[in-house]
Amino acid sequence: MDLFEHQAKDLFAAYGIPVPRGIVAHTPEEARGAAEQLTGRVVVKAQVKTGGRGKAGGVKLADDAADAAKKATEILGMDIKGHTVHKVLVEEASAIAEEYYFSFLLDRANRDFLAICSASGGMDIEEVAHTAPEKVAKVSISPLTGVDRTKAKEIAQAGGLPARALEGAAELIEKLWCAFVDEDATLVEVNPMILAADGQVKALDGKVTLDDNAAFRQPDHEALADKSAEDPLEAAAKARDLNYVKLDGSVGIIGNGAGLVMSTLDVVAYAGEPFGGQRPANFLDIGGGASAEVMAAGLEIILSDPSVRSIFVNVFGGITACDAVANGVVAAFRLLEERGEAVSRPLVVRLDGNNAALGRQILADANLAGVELVDTMDDAARRAAELAAVGVS
Ligand code: GDP
Ligand code: MN
Repeated sequence: MDLFEHQAKDLFAAYGIPVPRGIVAHTPEEARGAAEQLTGRVVVKAQVKTGGRGKAGGVKLADDAADAAKKATEILGMDIKGHTVHKVLVEEASAIAEEYYFSFLLDRANRDFLAICSASGGMDIEEVAHTAPEKVAKVSISPLTGVDRTKAKEIAQAGGLPARALEGAAELIEKLWCAFVDEDATLVEVNPMILAADGQVKALDGKVTLDDNAAFRQPDHEALADKSAEDPLEAAAKARDLNYVKLDGSVGIIGNGAGLVMSTLDVVAYAGEPFGGQRPANFLDIGGGASAEVMAAGLEIILSDPSVRSIFVNVFGGITACDAVANGVVAAFRLLEERGEAVSRPLVVRLDGNNAALGRQILADANLAGVELVDTMDDAARRAAELAAVGVS
């Protein structure tokens, strides 16, 4: 999960990292009030989960409260790389002497952590990394020893920071390491980390990615999720413990095992080309135990997506045998019918693997309306795409 800048800065502040005082505003009026409270010059910053806001015109200095309201009017509603701005951060303006770059990240390839530091920070860091890579220090960090003040200073020095910024930078870096570790982040980035005119080293921007796999031991993180950005179907699926991802096609997909479902997406996209470009409408992995409840929950989620025109159930029986899955489908149909949500779109089922013949027999005997059995994955994908194309009419 990525955080907004204002959330990242709240987190930094909790670890004692100096950040400018700031207030979040959702309207120009709120921005005016925030600027009045902060007094003096402020900076109005678009809160979207993407970089390059400065270059897109999403970061603007304002002279006073009235100007802050004006700048907020310009920024709110702006589209930055496909992200609409719904809120701004109004911050006391900083007098910047120098802009540096700093980040900690998980280095999966080397199975450790990486610190990246450069005295040439700010909006053109990507350009610097490309044209003058020697100006960007990359220091690997052992998870066993971590980062103390000495190590932090070493990294700052490797990044070419001037002597006058070293102490402040080392202190910031050490605290940032604590935040990175304690919060189970996979990335903390400060660009720019500034040397202010008064000599203080501060985090002027913040990007944080939290590791969702650590959610079980980070109960506070749930409150940081951006509920408004969540797809309602994905949220409903999550509430039922289903591995569901909404896609933009017309063929609903249910399969068992992430690998099988992913290849099903590819096969359906390929098979759908001659049928006017029918594509998968979702990823849904019902996992190992395809019980009636899980199957019903999966079908229900998929059926509540209005762009779904047909459904492809692709199951390879392993530990959960095909007859259990077939019984799951039959029971799911009954369950949904009882709830008045009878399956209203054609369903193509391909069963293979453990007890496939028995599974097919069960489905054939049940004679469910709109259900077709197809033997191979390719043929089933083609049929599902064809039915989706017919459904569009
Ligand atoms: P990004 O473009 O999305 O990375 O947004 P940043 O938060 O990094 O802001 C972009 C740039 O705006 C920074 O590199 C600074 O040069 C400038 N900026 C941001 N805050 C201030 C401020 O308080 N004072 C001044 N003078 N410039 C600022
Ligand atoms: Mn930045």
